[in-house]
Amino acid sequence: MEEYASPMSNTCRKIDTVHVVGGGLAGSEAAWQLATAGVPVVIHEMRPVRETDAHKTDGLAELVCSNSFRSDEWSTNAVGLLHEEMRRAGSLIMAAADVHKLPAGGALAVDRDGFSQEVTRRLEAHPLVTIAREEVAGLPPADWSSVIVATGPLTSPSLTQAILTLTGEDSLAFFDAIAPIVHYDSIDLDIAWKQSRYDKAGPGGTGADYLNCPMTKDQYEAFIDALLSGDKTEFKEWEASTPYFDGCLPIEVMAERGRDTLRFGPMKPVGLADPRKDNMRPYAVVQLRQDNALGSLWNMVGFQTKLKYAEQTRIFRMIPGLGEAQFARLGGLHRNTFLNSPVVLDGLIRLKANPRLRFAGQITGVEGYVESAAMGLVTGRLAAAERLGREPVVPPATTALGALVNHITGGHLVHDFTEIADGDEIANADPASETPAPSSSKRRSFQPMNINYGLLPTAEAPKFDADGRRIKGKDKGFARKRAASERALRDLDGWLQANDLKSAAE
Ligand SMILES: Cc1cc2nc3c(=O)[nH]c(=O)nc-3n(C[C@H](O)[C@H](O)[C@H](O)COP(=O)(O)OP(=O)(O)OC[C@H]3O[C@@H](n4cnc5c(N)ncnc54)[C@H](O)[C@@H]3O)c2cc1C
Repeated sequence: MEEYASPMSNTCRKIDTVHVVGGGLAGSEAAWQLATAGVPVVIHEMRPVRETDAHKTDGLAELVCSNSFRSDEWSTNAVGLLHEEMRRAGSLIMAAADVHKLPAGGALAVDRDGFSQEVTRRLEAHPLVTIAREEVAGLPPADWSSVIVATGPLTSPSLTQAILTLTGEDSLAFFDAIAPIVHYDSIDLDIAWKQSRYDKAGPGGTGADYLNCPMTKDQYEAFIDALLSGDKTEFKEWEASTPYFDGCLPIEVMAERGRDTLRFGPMKPVGLADPRKDNMRPYAVVQLRQDNALGSLWNMVGFQTKLKYAEQTRIFRMIPGLGEAQFARLGGLHRNTFLNSPVVLDGLIRLKANPRLRFAGQITGVEGYVESAAMGLVTGRLAAAERLGREPVVPPATTALGALVNHITGGHLVHDFTEIADGDEIANADPASETPAPSSSKRRSFQPMNINYGLLPTAEAPKFDADGRRIKGKDKGFARKRAASERALRDLDGWLQANDLKSAAE
């Protein structure tokens, strides 16, 4: 086992290395938390030696699809709260996102290349971080006494198989869908106009950060017909019955659920007024968000799809403003792999069957860039505490970070298949696939989850406003969220203070 003298330690104490497998969102954050606590770390990242289906570069923390970290508003938005907690905990991912943010209304969107390069540069520059470009093609070697596996939804097959053999539990496979990206100069700006919903400026925004393509009722109906009849990617039997995560539904699947589903989802027109039509609200809207710092590429918000490429081009050119659209990237589908964490992980996010292995990121059953990085942050700090001879303590369940930990290790109720409505049932996996069929009827109800207030315990909210008026209706919901966010940040500050790893390293 390697030992290093930590430069942060004035006693020259030897601290054993922690190994992080996977240099994505979670692995990069975990490594940063370890290194800044004074613990030496090796990141084992397989790219560019071995590629995944979705990554395009060899950069660490590459964003494989959208360039958005979603809302940055912490007082009434759960992912905004997670941003704030991570910033307070010294997150590398948030620091790099803040440096490379782009205008995006109330959301935090980033220049994907600048962001990934920033993360890579900071990790490469840290004296306690070593980056090994290699695949860990099976169980990590036995002499790695502390390992964080952060290999993501596209974990390489040999490692997936090794984990499955070890846990005896099966991973669940389903698909995330990629939204198309359009060249800005191919968008008809006589039709599309710039406006953020409700003119909200948000971090680094102007209030006019989205391109909006308006539709009349007739255009919308024709578009829905085209989606429904459009040629889709042929699915194998097991893929067809794979459950989609509701936050990432392909648009044609939404259209199948009801002709108005898209108008209440990604194509909703609320908070938008068409200046070419006397500021009337259109019947439906397709929004595009800036995708790179140059502003030359824009992605179609919420337009993940499994339509065939030729069909995407034909159907998306029916959208007013996109009649001549040139696509830099068309939508696609990708597999996701995640553990049945409530069953196989313990409360400190270690594999029960082999506690030297921790898991972080999407593979634990959280969903999204920020949530994946958040799990890296927590596991990095837990592994660092152990190496520094401290008791590892997870964040309180009242914080967004703690709520995610709770979701994957204890908060989820494992439902029996027979209790689930017919439509939700999941068929067995293809026996020919790398992922074996599920062995237990109880194991499949755990699903990936974005952070949301439903994962946090209810907070006591004030009943009256500052003027003594009773808080009613929608404002009651906001007051509850605000109370939960304020409590979360208070509790997080307490946890950070009580678990100050920098002082432990000295
Ligand atoms: C196609 C697709 C689109 C997605 N789109 C979005 C989106 O738009 N917004 C969003 O919030 N989330 C999205 N997600 C979900 C999720 O947020 C991202 O996948 C996120 O990158 C997960 O972070 P991670 O650190 O867990 O994994 P990753 O960021 O994928 O990092 C895992 C790393 O491990 C490496 N690796 C894998 N196996 C090995 C091995 N055996 N040895 C060494 N290295 C290995 C990989 O090369 C990779 O760099 C998407 C996922 C997919 C698959």
